[in-house]
Amino acid sequence: MFSKNKIEKWKRKYSLLEDIINTKEVIWLNPKYQTTESHSDIELSKENIIEAEKRLNRFKPYIKEVFPETKKNNGLIESVLESINDFKGDLEDIFNTSIDGSLYIKRDDSLPIAGSIKARGGIYEVLKYAETLALKNNLITKDENYEKFVNKEFKTFFNEYSLAVGSTGNLGLSIGIMGATLGFKTTVHMSNDAKEWKKRLLREKGVHVKEYESDYSKAVEEGRKLSENDPRSYFIDDEKSKDLFLGYAVAALRLKKQFESRNITVNKNNPLFVYLPCGVGGGPGGICFGLKKVFGEGVYCFFAEPTHSPAMLIGMMTEEHNNISVQDLGIDNKTAADGLAVGTPSKFVGKIMENYLAGIYTIQDEILFQLLKKLYNKKRIKLEPSAVAGFPGPAKIRQNHIYKKFDIEKKNINHLIWATGGIMVPEYIFQEYLLN
Ligand SMILES: *Cc1c(COP(=O)(O)O)cnc(C)c1O
Repeated sequence: MFSKNKIEKWKRKYSLLEDIINTKEVIWLNPKYQTTESHSDIELSKENIIEAEKRLNRFKPYIKEVFPETKKNNGLIESVLESINDFKGDLEDIFNTSIDGSLYIKRDDSLPIAGSIKARGGIYEVLKYAETLALKNNLITKDENYEKFVNKEFKTFFNEYSLAVGSTGNLGLSIGIMGATLGFKTTVHMSNDAKEWKKRLLREKGVHVKEYESDYSKAVEEGRKLSENDPRSYFIDDEKSKDLFLGYAVAALRLKKQFESRNITVNKNNPLFVYLPCGVGGGPGGICFGLKKVFGEGVYCFFAEPTHSPAMLIGMMTEEHNNISVQDLGIDNKTAADGLAVGTPSKFVGKIMENYLAGIYTIQDEILFQLLKKLYNKKRIKLEPSAVAGFPGPAKIRQNHIYKKFDIEKKNINHLIWATGGIMVPEYIFQEYLLN
């Protein structure tokens, strides 16, 4: 907790803080952002991302076998890139501004297996743990066909081990589904934001769901503690996991190919602006890190947070990272964007983002619902509230004269809205969203 005095001092130092505390929408430009590569202090490299992609490739024959929906992509868990220029007019109407350049959407809402961005990091970390155990116990070698993981002996073996994770819902889904499929005893510690249908789905898959009255940070803390004392229990730590982060980062290598196949160039003169919904930071952070490694100075990443859960924003702005929570500032962390309902940001991610992230903006829940409805009515795309947080990005950028700051030619710009979740939302829940 911080004294009143300290907070008053910050208010004088950070001109946005007053508005943030009053849950007004803001946009923050990262003063430490560097367009060119000079981040020698970061322990993760592009090689680590490539290694992660190779690991996912080894698992393709297995994934294809256990998740038939991935057959058409040969076991690759990936989403499509779509042009969505016909939605520009709608954004212009809602935000009362013009949108420059071209508009794209990355459809992580329809990622196979877990239906959200968490299918990248979560599934990757579970697979890596499974591989590590299997190699160590001579069940497999890296040159063999990983389809072997479907064998009964693997399931029996993994059943001697447990996996645990703390979650607001979607990470639990991805870890729970992957963990249980491999045979692990899997426990998901769910915060009070987690939706009933997500808990039910996990229980149906044999996952142990523990519910908490408290928010996400507490669920993580409890889960971590319970796993600590058990050498056969592995805790997937959303607040500090490098593996999760690298699993997310692989998206950048895939996106590069998708842009290439459309003959779209990304460089200094043809910049790509990416808008990523942010909770604790791992998902958007991993993707931003990957994109910077792949596209360098050509890419500008912005995180989007709810006005009631601006955790990464206050953490990075004050540089207090996980020392500060939105609750410390009297903000309630209550938002319909459950995937983003995080009060304390990841320090691990905030530190890495120090020179990579261009900025963060916040958005009101009412706007999220307005966008969610418009997108469905016009395009029949079904997103969960968290997943539409990227849509205000292009308007925010324009309204705040961000191009000028970066000296960018407006007409050459490509906007990429990262749609982070949706396909698993049951129809009756989606209908409720439409009534909001
Ligand atoms: C988890 C989640 C995010 C944000 O990811 P973090 O790693 O928590 O920052 C964004 N959108 C959806 C739908 C999510 O479930």
